[in-house]
Amino acid sequence: MTSASDLAIFLTNDLTGISRGRAFPIDDLRDRMVAGCGWVPANLALTPFGVIGENPFGPIGDLRLQPDRDSDGYNLMGIDGEPDLHAYLCDIVATDGQPWGGCGRSFAKRALADLAGEFGLTLKASFEHEFFLLDHPARLDGAFTLSDFRAAQGFLGTAMGALGRAGVHPEMILREYGPRQFEVTMKPATGLAAADRAVILRDVTRDIARQFKSRACFSPIIDPSSVGSGVHLHFSLTASDGTPRTHDPAAPGGISQQAASFVAGILRHMPALCALTAPSAISYLRLTPHRWSAGFNCFGYRNREAGVRICPVDDSPGRDVSRQVHLEFRASDATASPFMVLGALVRAGLEGLRAKLPAPPLVEGDPADLSPAQLQAMNIRRLPESLPEALAEMRRDDVVMGWLPPELQQGYAALKTAELARVDGMTPQQQCDLYASCY
Ligand code: GLU
Ligand code: MG
Repeated sequence: MTSASDLAIFLTNDLTGISRGRAFPIDDLRDRMVAGCGWVPANLALTPFGVIGENPFGPIGDLRLQPDRDSDGYNLMGIDGEPDLHAYLCDIVATDGQPWGGCGRSFAKRALADLAGEFGLTLKASFEHEFFLLDHPARLDGAFTLSDFRAAQGFLGTAMGALGRAGVHPEMILREYGPRQFEVTMKPATGLAAADRAVILRDVTRDIARQFKSRACFSPIIDPSSVGSGVHLHFSLTASDGTPRTHDPAAPGGISQQAASFVAGILRHMPALCALTAPSAISYLRLTPHRWSAGFNCFGYRNREAGVRICPVDDSPGRDVSRQVHLEFRASDATASPFMVLGALVRAGLEGLRAKLPAPPLVEGDPADLSPAQLQAMNIRRLPESLPEALAEMRRDDVVMGWLPPELQQGYAALKTAELARVDGMTPQQQCDLYASCY
């Protein structure tokens, strides 16, 4: 049953990882699924702080937000008499319906299509999210405690229900280590759906928290002296018929040659990738050694200091390990677009597959304890220590720049220049406070 006041909304989750869009009466949905709704090129340079940076598009040009025609959308669930809102994630297309170069979702689609076309491979993936629950009446300072979980369970349970109804297949929710920190995980999805679900998870979780008069804050760090919140991308490769392609019991770490080459491509480009996966000024307060985030572009076996790690499996007798073996990219956070993270990871992995790169050495200890000579011998580097450094790495990496259409390059540069200018001169805590208010 719909009523005249029921609305639907078309959304783009932009380069800042923030969903923005336009709403309309739900009765118009059938027409809108074909026609889309208007959008503007200069919006690509919107900073998280809501201001459009100086950009080459200016007031010129028109675009459309276009959902996939067969999409069912997802419901933002109103509790306590608040209205529901039916949402659709869109591509940004030109007025003739052709993909627009500045669209992050299309960037990810193209990368996945090349992975399938060139290697017959599909990515199964799940974005694991940490977040801070702010403005909650309880103190929430007990790491992993039942008492904190119970204090927040009204919100947590309602959020899990809403996530289930929104189709993201939530898996687990927990009180994490940091003060007021929680984590929510999803079951793996195939290809683009993994990034779509990351967007939906953040939007739904924030929406439910708001209705509980609290705030689910996905900012990478809210206190420079405390732990950060990561968005870890769990992934594995499968053949198009679903056969797992990540596991080889005879190979080091149990990782197949193909998956190892894919990881080697990621590690090779990781300093530049950080500009897309950890793309805010404060991302680099989190991305430091000894925070269990990722300080180095190394391949770790069950190692939470590694940029990419091999995750543990249940290898008790009778359990099928091949379907569980998967990898985790840890150098990303929620100031990144999940589409750019997924697309860039696949693009880097593809470079490794094409070059048949050898398996990277496995690091079992803390990479910060390795000597400069050891790091060099294993091709391991400290990841960038600031956003300007990461952006410079990206500009220097012709391969990474070559993945990005001109509109993405221009829009991204414009956005990051304005973003950095806005936080220039602030203390780390002031920067954290500003980002916390946006994420
Ligand atoms: N909070 C850590 C991060 O910033 C991750 C801790 C964990 O391994 O769950 O990535
Ligand atoms: Mg965690």
